[in-house]
Amino acid sequence: MTPHGQIDTPQFMPVGTQATVKALTPGDLRGAGAQVILGNTYHLNLRPTAERIARLGGLHRFMAWDGPILTDSGGFQVFSLADLRRVDDDGATFTSHLDGSIHHLTPERAMEIQALLGSDVAMAFDQLVDPGLPLAQVADAMQRTNRWAERSLAARSRPDQAVYGIIQGGVDPELRRESVAVISALPFDGIAVGGLSVGESKSQMAATLEVVTEALGDDPRPRYLMGVGSPVDFFTAVERGIDLFDCVLPTRVARTGQVWTDAGRLNLRNAAFMDDPTPLDAACACEACVHHSRAYLAHLFRARELLAYRLASVHNVTWTLELMRRLRTSLSDGSFTELRDRIAPVYRRDGPNTRMTVYDAGVE
Ligand SMILES: [Zn+2]
Repeated sequence: MTPHGQIDTPQFMPVGTQATVKALTPGDLRGAGAQVILGNTYHLNLRPTAERIARLGGLHRFMAWDGPILTDSGGFQVFSLADLRRVDDDGATFTSHLDGSIHHLTPERAMEIQALLGSDVAMAFDQLVDPGLPLAQVADAMQRTNRWAERSLAARSRPDQAVYGIIQGGVDPELRRESVAVISALPFDGIAVGGLSVGESKSQMAATLEVVTEALGDDPRPRYLMGVGSPVDFFTAVERGIDLFDCVLPTRVARTGQVWTDAGRLNLRNAAFMDDPTPLDAACACEACVHHSRAYLAHLFRARELLAYRLASVHNVTWTLELMRRLRTSLSDGSFTELRDRIAPVYRRDGPNTRMTVYDAGVE
């Protein structure tokens, strides 16, 4: 339960990077069944700035979304997107990817920004590193994240805002266990697993989740796997006790013409769909599936009509949230294995896990 409503788990959070889930209105999100969305501290603080959003009544009012919002701490973008100048125990100094201006983000400032935005759930500030770096560097970042976790909690200023801590440690089991021990001992309202979906393999992600799950034991707090959101990953993670997900993937791939269905991915740019009168997914109740054909969407993508991006995004978010609903049902009635064995195989493919971005396209 949050100040803006309940969150049923497992749950997926569509990503509203710049105070909008790309191509979707709040009404579209409600229609798709969204309960909670994510906002990005890094982006919102650079533009239009947290202070301006606070003056305009906070992020909920600014973007006209009255449901729960989780904000990230900015850590992921600072360490993946910005031109990093310096990281020390105080915080991170970086150059804005927008205009080259120099910014300094600390655990205290990350918490202040999130308090100004007024999100329901704030994230502690963490240091992300490439899990492929030498172990000593991964360990340093994890230990710094632990120190920043305490400072983030100490900087908490809103009693109506939950704060989640973040487990780091790359793909090393010992470092992950150390991180779990420190973070779970702190009075956070939820526990997030960070540092995944950054180029590791599917098996490394699964193994890391195994370690974290075992180390957390019967800790009752919500568990949030950050930045993970491909259909096959949902099953891997839910099986290991994950409650919350966020990822740009469903909306990003939608804008390239890729839609997710129970039968697998469809690429609407494929010429075969130009004459296909059937809906994207006959079982889906979204606006795109109820009113339109694959042929129509294939045409819109070829003609680069703006409606293509909206309809494909409406569908992918609806399908993803419907999958979450089916996952919740399957956990309560014991049909998880059946659901997994029906959906996951059609999405299984090799390749690293990543949410890294093609920023030159102006996407998340
Ligand atoms: Zn649909």
